[in-house]
Amino acid sequence: MPLRLLTPLICLLISASSAAQDRYLVDWDTAGEEALQHLVELIKINTTNPPGNETQAATYVKSVLAADGIDSTLYALDPDRTNLVARIKGNGSKRPILIMGHTDVVGVQADRWTEEPFGGLRKDGYVYGRGSLDDKDNVTAGLMVMLLLKRNGIELDRDVIFLAEAGEEGTPEYGITYMVDQHWDAIDAEFCLAEGGGGIAEHDHVEVVGLQTTEKMIRRATLVARGTAGHGSVPRPDNAVSILARAVAKAGAWQTEMRLNETTRAYFERLAAISRPDDAVHYRNIENPEETDAIQQHFLETFPYHYSILRTSVVPTMIEAGFRKNVIPSEATAMLDIRMLPDENVEEFYGMLADVIDDPRVEIVPERVYRPAAAPSGIDNEMFETLERVAKRVYPGATVLPTMSTGGTDMAQVRAKGVPAYGVGPIRTRDELSSGNGAHSDNERVAEDAFVDFVRFLWLTVIDVAASE
Ligand SMILES: [Zn+2]
Repeated sequence: MPLRLLTPLICLLISASSAAQDRYLVDWDTAGEEALQHLVELIKINTTNPPGNETQAATYVKSVLAADGIDSTLYALDPDRTNLVARIKGNGSKRPILIMGHTDVVGVQADRWTEEPFGGLRKDGYVYGRGSLDDKDNVTAGLMVMLLLKRNGIELDRDVIFLAEAGEEGTPEYGITYMVDQHWDAIDAEFCLAEGGGGIAEHDHVEVVGLQTTEKMIRRATLVARGTAGHGSVPRPDNAVSILARAVAKAGAWQTEMRLNETTRAYFERLAAISRPDDAVHYRNIENPEETDAIQQHFLETFPYHYSILRTSVVPTMIEAGFRKNVIPSEATAMLDIRMLPDENVEEFYGMLADVIDDPRVEIVPERVYRPAAAPSGIDNEMFETLERVAKRVYPGATVLPTMSTGGTDMAQVRAKGVPAYGVGPIRTRDELSSGNGAHSDNERVAEDAFVDFVRFLWLTVIDVAASE
């Protein structure tokens, strides 16, 4: 057996600690190649949302499951936007776990890509294509776990449910919202695993494994300023453009209250332990009243993600005003992209925003809410502890960080039902992270090795938490 084939097996034998993992060894050369092929096939199905056309992806997944004798059920609010659920039964002594992956993707600007976005090209150790990191990697990993559970005839204490859902990219009413509201029985679980995690590697060493435990709430609002219309040659005190500009400036400069939660506190504590001393001192002193202002300013200037996870953020993103250069318009509008902390009181926050703007001629119009509020998922339960344990086994020496996403995912709906949910995903190198080839970017791509390691990570997690001893 050449070394290339032996290495993964040796790693597995060394790393497998629980009885279940000793019993169920997987040949990852074969399984990894199979996973890569399914990823490629899914990327080739153009599920750009809008319009989505996720039914084609669901049909593909259904046929792959069926070939191994796994039944699945299709659920659709719209026939073109199908969700798929498959379940492998356990003995019922524990409650199910739910693995999710969304089949839709965001659109592309194809002329900015060096490779065909829906070609599924494998080149230089990468798989290129829209969805390779968001979220056909998770769809494929969930699919592979189901196939491997079935093929290995694994005895389970709990059902393992796989949901490939439509509509995550902006239209969850066809996907997770529909499933939660209309078909909760099909996906009800004790824990959920989905997208939104990952990790960072430097040279071949994985430094950090991020597990997403919570996310900010999208609660955007439009500012509408109103004044008197008129001729541009005649100044007026109630010029809607000027009123709006002042309001936007105040909202954009507003430093909202800083607040840590269990996730972000653990995140900064653990990050401090592995950071250079000059960074660590910042992470350790965020709540130090004498240091915090300077630290927050430092985050804002050097790593805005850290600034964002400390607070509800208010970011002006669009302004619309006027239609002719010599006409004062009667109305002007601006979009504020507001991302609230999970515990924010939404109505009170809009009230504080009104106080900051302090101008009755500006109305705050909240955007339609499409994800519910949900408390962060705990970091002291069986699932999180399992994820941590497996992360350390698959990525020796890595530090596990619970993370809060600044963006939204379908886990919000699941968490709002009281189910702790954790975001997982492939590791990326520092070079990859700075290359601009990530989720939603041009030339989205995943390293083949990292993807296969991720499938293995999900598999070991599921075995650890679900297989009978
Ligand atoms: Zn996604």
